[in-house]
Amino acid sequence: MLSSGRKFAGSDFGFRCRRRTVIAAMAALVLLPSESGAAGWLLDIFKGPSKQGKSPAHVASRKPAISAKRAAAPKPHTVRLAALGPANLNFLKPAASMCDPSKFRIVLDVGHTAESEGATSARNVPEFTFNLRLAQRIEEKLKAEGFAETMLLLTEGKARPSLAKRVAAANHLGANLFLSIHHDSVPNSLLEDWEFEGKKGHFSDRFSGYSVFVSRNNPDFKTSLLFAELIGKAMKAQGLQYAQQYTQAIMGRYQHPLLNKETGVYSYDQLVVLRSTRMPAVLLEAGSIINRDEELKMDSPERRNITGNAVAAAAKEFCGPQEAFLGPL
Ligand SMILES: [Zn+2]
Repeated sequence: MLSSGRKFAGSDFGFRCRRRTVIAAMAALVLLPSESGAAGWLLDIFKGPSKQGKSPAHVASRKPAISAKRAAAPKPHTVRLAALGPANLNFLKPAASMCDPSKFRIVLDVGHTAESEGATSARNVPEFTFNLRLAQRIEEKLKAEGFAETMLLLTEGKARPSLAKRVAAANHLGANLFLSIHHDSVPNSLLEDWEFEGKKGHFSDRFSGYSVFVSRNNPDFKTSLLFAELIGKAMKAQGLQYAQQYTQAIMGRYQHPLLNKETGVYSYDQLVVLRSTRMPAVLLEAGSIINRDEELKMDSPERRNITGNAVAAAAKEFCGPQEAFLGPL
């Protein structure tokens, strides 16, 4: 349930300033039926309601986010990314971008909400739990690298209205970069049944790996892609492999174009949080929690450290060219 009495307004976010955590707790603009189970997975994003008539976890709207417009505010710490030059997709050369980490505001969006928790892992743990723990670790890593303005964005409410809230919050906060944190699953048709600790569950060990998404409709697609590439490269440098199934026919309507076969960056053009944000935006699927082996890895502090290090390294590289960062290709 959404808290009552909160009216939608540009400044009506619940800020936890001391912890740099922001809770987008605005009243929902639209109330939708709740989702359940694996239907909340990223790839159910806005292709319309599923066969069962449940609402998708992420919903693309062809309309501009009204809430984002209303919530727009001056950007006190905005770095002019337009001045950074074109995205450098050739990683044999150092990136051309320069920014001051101490003033560069990265908003870490915790995917899904406590009410609408996204996918369910093979061992029946909500995706939201994984997302929150990992985002917190990434926040720590970024701050340790000097990104003092990093903010964690926690959103409340049901899946669909939470999307506009995320966009509005990122725009309102004057984020220089928006990074949404998720964990992956598979289409329902690929799920298999099993029991874990006496409880029925679903799994698929068929696929694993991270993946990075950008929208070609983002107003700064080039910078979005640049940062996505840096994350993919950094993940690869940590010994991780990306999920390759998104180009396969078996994914059906969940197929996505692979923009870089080296880094695992895909396009997801209609994803609201990637296309409606006014700043460069990237979504990281850190790994699969429906794969039984990978779920155990994603549940470990070691993997959270690895992923956090990768994101922090990508951010450092983004703000200041460091040729040695990724090493030889
Ligand atoms: Zn998700």
